[in-house]
Amino acid sequence: MRLLPAAAGSGIVFRRTDLDNFEIPATGRNVAKVSYATSLMRQGVLITTSEHLLSAFIGTGIDNVIVEIDNLELPILDGSALPYVEAFLRVGIRSQRRRRETLRVLQPIEVREGDKFIGVYPGSGYRICYSIDFPAPIGQQKTSVDLAAETYGSEIAGARTFGYKADERKLRDMGLIRGASPQNAIILSESGPVNGPLRFPDEYVRHKVLDLIGDLSLLGRRLEGHVVAERAGHAMHTALVARLLKDRSAWELAHVPVATPAAANARQNARSGVTEAALAGV
Ligand SMILES: [Zn+2]
Repeated sequence: MRLLPAAAGSGIVFRRTDLDNFEIPATGRNVAKVSYATSLMRQGVLITTSEHLLSAFIGTGIDNVIVEIDNLELPILDGSALPYVEAFLRVGIRSQRRRRETLRVLQPIEVREGDKFIGVYPGSGYRICYSIDFPAPIGQQKTSVDLAAETYGSEIAGARTFGYKADERKLRDMGLIRGASPQNAIILSESGPVNGPLRFPDEYVRHKVLDLIGDLSLLGRRLEGHVVAERAGHAMHTALVARLLKDRSAWELAHVPVATPAAANARQNARSGVTEAALAGV
């Protein structure tokens, strides 16, 4: 996989170098079937497990990037978004000349399915409140994150994906979690993780936040509003994207206000989200 800087206004675009550079923009229009991971599809061409990379882009404020990949599956790495974030920071992120547009929520949108729930509400910044309730040893966990506070790198990016040892064979038989291993996921037995200590006591719910940020990137604009998710997952996340994009009266495109125009240099603008940003180079 190779990431390339992209022009302002171009968004996040996947490019299959093994298929004549066929391009699949990361937007809600191209969401494919969703189960254990989020996939994108256009004209039958697929990109799978895109959510961790997309999450890293949103978390670090990258608006425009070309993702070149020579097969359909993105690398799982250590099961978190931290290796991506570290790579971005090594290369650098530069502010672009175009003002960033956010998708500002004007009216609540809620999706409920059984005991699963996800809703989005008007509010300043980008806040997420997530609660989960999984079988032992996870149980109930809840966390709140304010993305504007630049907490993504330290609080969210490092949280790894997880799976139950008991489900492993079943999932593998279904062709899912291809290559899941103790190196790229927390593997759980009834008594706890079988592969070493957690990175956070509530790593599981933090990973759900990581996934949600990636899935909501498919709105095509950074969200401005508050998200509440309870026992949700990729299917609920992308259902919210579809509902929001369909209900044009529930949001507007808005510019991030410039707080201190006189003092704002390019770097401050990028950090406060006033302008779009891209990778500095490769
Ligand atoms: Zn995930």
